[in-house]
Amino acid sequence: MVKRFFELQEKVLSYHNKANTTLLKKAYSVAADAHLTQKRATNEPFIIHPLSVAGTLADMKLDEISVAAGLLHDVVEDTDYTIGKIESMFGKEIADIVWGVTKISKISHFDPEDAKAETLKKMIIAMTNDVRVILIKLADRLHNMATLEALNEEKRKRIARETLEIYAPIAFRLGMGKMKTELEDIAFKYAYPEEYERINNEIEHKQKWAMQKLGNLKDEIAGILKQYKITGEIHSRIKRDISIYRKLMRQNITLDRVYDLLALRIITDSVENCYLLMGEIHQRWQYIPARWRDFIANQKSNGYQSIHTTIITSDAGKFEIQIRTGEMHRIAEEGIAAHWQYKEGINFLENDERLQWFRDMIEAHKENPNPKEFLSQVKGDLTTNEIYVFTPKGKVITLKKGATPIDFAFAIHTEVGFHCKGAYVNEQLVPLRTKLQSSDVVDIITSKNANPSADWLKYVGTSRARKKIAGYIQKKENLIYWEKGKKIWGKIIREYKKKHNLKFNEDAIKDRINDTYRIDMDNFYRDIGSNKRVLDKKSLKVLFPELSAPEVIPVKRSSKKTSQVYKLIIVDGYKDIDILFARCCNPIKGDKITGYITHSRGLMIHKENCSNLKNAVQSRLKEVSWNEIADFPYLVKYDLVVPDKPGMLNSISGITSENNSNIKKIGIEKISQSMCKVKISFEVKDTNQLNKILSDFKKIKHIDSIVRRKTPVQN
Ligand code: MN
Repeated sequence: MVKRFFELQEKVLSYHNKANTTLLKKAYSVAADAHLTQKRATNEPFIIHPLSVAGTLADMKLDEISVAAGLLHDVVEDTDYTIGKIESMFGKEIADIVWGVTKISKISHFDPEDAKAETLKKMIIAMTNDVRVILIKLADRLHNMATLEALNEEKRKRIARETLEIYAPIAFRLGMGKMKTELEDIAFKYAYPEEYERINNEIEHKQKWAMQKLGNLKDEIAGILKQYKITGEIHSRIKRDISIYRKLMRQNITLDRVYDLLALRIITDSVENCYLLMGEIHQRWQYIPARWRDFIANQKSNGYQSIHTTIITSDAGKFEIQIRTGEMHRIAEEGIAAHWQYKEGINFLENDERLQWFRDMIEAHKENPNPKEFLSQVKGDLTTNEIYVFTPKGKVITLKKGATPIDFAFAIHTEVGFHCKGAYVNEQLVPLRTKLQSSDVVDIITSKNANPSADWLKYVGTSRARKKIAGYIQKKENLIYWEKGKKIWGKIIREYKKKHNLKFNEDAIKDRINDTYRIDMDNFYRDIGSNKRVLDKKSLKVLFPELSAPEVIPVKRSSKKTSQVYKLIIVDGYKDIDILFARCCNPIKGDKITGYITHSRGLMIHKENCSNLKNAVQSRLKEVSWNEIADFPYLVKYDLVVPDKPGMLNSISGITSENNSNIKKIGIEKISQSMCKVKISFEVKDTNQLNKILSDFKKIKHIDSIVRRKTPVQN
């Protein structure tokens, strides 16, 4: 641990020999001066802390800006220095980072869980702006953990648990294996002191036996390396990862039952040698197929690569063996920090895939005001294990445990997600809510007519899918509310004009709305359309103070929001009216339509030019329109008279599928020596699609006729 400034400076110069040491010196003296009278809980001078944080950043080989910001990270929070002063002394870049770190510590919630959520949210936002903020925050936490002993037990436990729940998982997500392990090691000891004690005693007890077994295996593997003339290092250890502790705590099992307690790591020089060694090891020892993982071909989303396999030796001991190259090892240890190590022309604001996950997380919860929900979701996402599933072509997709085919579809492409209709998992048709398992082969069925449903939100597992689906549904609802609101408002205005025989300036009314409610017209429409704002007499009096309020169309709050929203037909002034489609003319979305108010069956929708409407009573006719955004498959039935030739059915069904329509039924019947009748039922979503299909049918060589059969259409 760095304790003096010159040690820090030497460390930085060792990887960056042109580092701006004047800057570092200045940052150090400002920090030392600012914290001069302060002490740490350990009774050491406070400057020890920023020095150590800066030392950790130098261990990550970061640039001098990061190291200087590390030295200054507590100055604004704990002393009289303002951020403005730091900026005038050190410039905007350093000031921004220091401010980012400072902001995270300022918490406005009293409830400890809410406060945790707030911290987490701030950290994520800060790091997606400049990843150096989180690197400093992690280094800060690491040193605070190292000096936790000085605090009382309650504080120790609280900080240690927060480290396990938030900081270590963030380090893991960023691929920083070393940081994660170091944080977890100390945190576990303070968060669960008794369990830590018990488990370590057990491990201690087995130490001699374990080291001997590890030594034997290490020798044998060294023999393999020698035999194939492969260069490589072998490290062996008794694992003390948090995962081991958790297993022992949760399952209350003994040490020898833990598969990955004894571990060997082989670090070699090339990918070929990794596989060669794996093959040799699998030949020599029995291995457990379910525990074999090829993270070299199937890189984890945090960038981690390695082969993992668990073997059983003849004396029945189990060993986990990891095989990787030196470069893979470096990435596994340093993760995102490796990417940002000092080099010429580096840009810290550049995008990194490992940050995308965090961005999605924030985006997905933008609208959710409940901090506890945010916390539990992020915590879940941070810590859940990943699964690895395959596309039919063998591409690996990394998802979190519990993910469904919908998550998979969105991971492939947004459009695939939006139009996903069904899925084959390992060649079996499964429901979309099925939970995927590692190594499943998933094939998504899409259809242009398929769209996300609110139901999906109940079982999707990934933030990405959740965000996309929620966005889609919100947009759809907003549009419907907007249309509805515009109509309601139009009606009010019309009645006003009629009743008062007035001509008035609508722009003036819009200004008044804007002044009264402080929203624009679009939001005003949306609010009245969704009944968020109900225009009763009182509120209309505010909008039209010079007149008495007109009769208001009753707008009741509807509990059946979704069924209303997805209605196919928009009928002005009616709520929850039953809608039927007339069998005589079978209207399809896109047709010009009119509603006919029946005696007992609700509103019957006819084509505008339907002959049955010719003698209808005018007062029973009702203006209706298609809801542009609601899609619904209409079943249509056609009889085609075509030449009786081989392949005819194929070309007909080809036409429907090229036009993204689903065939529900198709049959053929011979009607003469050379002709046959093809009876086909298929689904269309509107007249455009139907017309396209019909015009393609017409292109079939020597087609005789196309006749539509009348059919009941469900509503
Ligand atoms: Mn600090």
